Amino acid sequence: MNTINNILQLGSKILKNHSIKTHQIDTELLLSKTLKESREYILTNDNKTLNFSETKKFLKFLNRRKNNEPIAYIMNEKYFWKKKFFVDNNVLIPRPDSETVVEKVLSYYKHKKKISILDIGTGSGCLIISILGERKYFKGTAIDISKKAINIAKYNAKMHQLSNRIKFYKSSVDNFFKGKYDLIISNPPYICSSKLKYLDKDIYNFEPIQALEGGKNGLKFFEKIIKKSSKLLKKSGRLILEIGFDQKSKVLEIINKENFFVNNVYKDYGKNDRCIICTKL
Ligand code: GLN
Repeated sequence: MNTINNILQLGSKILKNHSIKTHQIDTELLLSKTLKESREYILTNDNKTLNFSETKKFLKFLNRRKNNEPIAYIMNEKYFWKKKFFVDNNVLIPRPDSETVVEKVLSYYKHKKKISILDIGTGSGCLIISILGERKYFKGTAIDISKKAINIAKYNAKMHQLSNRIKFYKSSVDNFFKGKYDLIISNPPYICSSKLKYLDKDIYNFEPIQALEGGKNGLKFFEKIIKKSSKLLKKSGRLILEIGFDQKSKVLEIINKENFFVNNVYKDYGKNDRCIICTKL
């Protein structure tokens, strides 16, 4: 019989055999998506039976996970900071490491009531939406080269009632000249082209390469963003960047060629250098 209990055991076993470490919880989540019920419901109604179409739907989801597709893409959601974001394979899955950027923005602007922020390469919109969600009078502008990403970010902004405070533009950093900002934030693509293939296979095979690849040395977008920020920032405006764990000195070198004062470099929860803060002089 296709009881929830049997289905959970079967699903978990299949994923385990495919070396998915989170086989148990993933199976529970996929079943909760199938039945449109909470995980708590799934765990407390294990005698309930699934009909044919429910079983089929579940096996389809399970198959995707079996082939290493990230759970966030199958569920179409990922929690970041304090909110849930819609995601699909057109945007990078928000990483806990990037919450460092949110945390630093909030602490640097603790006593500022009103600022305008530009987010370069917004993707799902998780950074700008999380920040604006915490500060009623902040305003945002978000750009991304991908039209599909912009649509997802717009959708997320709408879901969190922030559409009226964020403007979205499909644009590269090169072609963007609008406005002057108090703060620019960015988590650009920063993986060296030659290192892409060493990423986890659920990243490499499923996440958008366009959002990961930072050219031959991984620094291509830092060069562009830092140069451009010195034009788009107001005087004493700040630039806050997410960087790769081994990029601190190289990115600082680029920053030092422009007219910036480096405030600090911060580590993420995993104790890797992750976030650089500098001020336009
Ligand atoms: N931190 C991401 C990873 O390791 C990369 C994010 C990026 O390139 N901006 O997969």
